[in-house]
Amino acid sequence: MAYIILNKNNFFNNLDIIANRTKSVDKIALVLKDNAYGHGLLEMASMANEYGIKKAVVQKTEEALLIEKFFEYILVLSDTPTVSSDKIRYTINDINSISKFPLGTKVELKVDSGMHRNGISPSELEASFLKIKGQGLQLEAVFTHHRSADELTTEWFWQKENFKKIKQESTKLAEKLGFTALRFHSSNSAALFRDSSFDEDMARVGIVAYGCMTLPKAISVDGIKPVLSLYANKISSRKLKSGERVGYGATREIKSDAVVSNYDFGYGDGFFRSCSNNYKTPHDIEIVGRVSMDNSSFLCDKDEILIFDDARVAASYAGTISYEVLTSLKADIKKIV
Ligand SMILES: *Cc1c(COP(=O)(O)O)cnc(C)c1O
Repeated sequence: MAYIILNKNNFFNNLDIIANRTKSVDKIALVLKDNAYGHGLLEMASMANEYGIKKAVVQKTEEALLIEKFFEYILVLSDTPTVSSDKIRYTINDINSISKFPLGTKVELKVDSGMHRNGISPSELEASFLKIKGQGLQLEAVFTHHRSADELTTEWFWQKENFKKIKQESTKLAEKLGFTALRFHSSNSAALFRDSSFDEDMARVGIVAYGCMTLPKAISVDGIKPVLSLYANKISSRKLKSGERVGYGATREIKSDAVVSNYDFGYGDGFFRSCSNNYKTPHDIEIVGRVSMDNSSFLCDKDEILIFDDARVAASYAGTISYEVLTSLKADIKKIV
């Protein structure tokens, strides 16, 4: 069976680098959505807890409940409460959704500072605060999300400036309406490492913790290491003669006699079909033919091969980003820490 090895030393190394940036482990909120970017929700939550991380971010209540025991604080990005929990905070993404939250819910207000995806508009700030108050919710934080922190443009500065105004106005509204100790956060991985003077209450880090952040050279970060490696096992081997063809559609002709083996990792497990006839493993083993649902063939006769140990490299073959390579990995692939 194909399996994943999670390198705890590399994960802790990345958390050290992040903590150095946030200046406090308590300010790290580890983003664990999408099965912890394919790494395994429980495996990563448990390791984060061992390191001393107290905060996590997920998409849904269901995920939050699975990891509740590992954290003191869990932010749910897009869901409405179905259970009451002292640890879980819910995101308000739209002014009209405020009426859906039950009395007393701990909420964080997302404000659209320029990405135009989720969050209330800055012009709705006062109306949102009033609705939150009227609904009897506990407003704990105001936050935003950057659209281009990983690109070398001025956009990050522009959004940071927009959020600064939102923070100032929120602070005034909070005082007026009696919301005490309002917190602010805006940084994802890239934004945290662009900011040489991080001073917010927390950073929501995903990809950098998993060691697969890609940034332009001028703002790149040294020392982060990928956490996940994916191995596949041989199902069968055969000797093929020059001129024979491999796989669906017979897209690949063998140029000289060779052993071709088939391994148990296909697009049904998260391999990209765009890697068909277009992939080499870290040990330079070449894929031959199309990736099929549960298998892929390589010019090799080893019992086991390393498919990738850096999702960024796999992503470059597949014409995508490390986030997509990682989150495409099916949850049932066995994890070994
Ligand atoms: C996914 C997500 C993050 C984490 O982004 P990375 O680039 O992986 O650090 C942070 N904040 C929000 C709102 C997200 O949706």
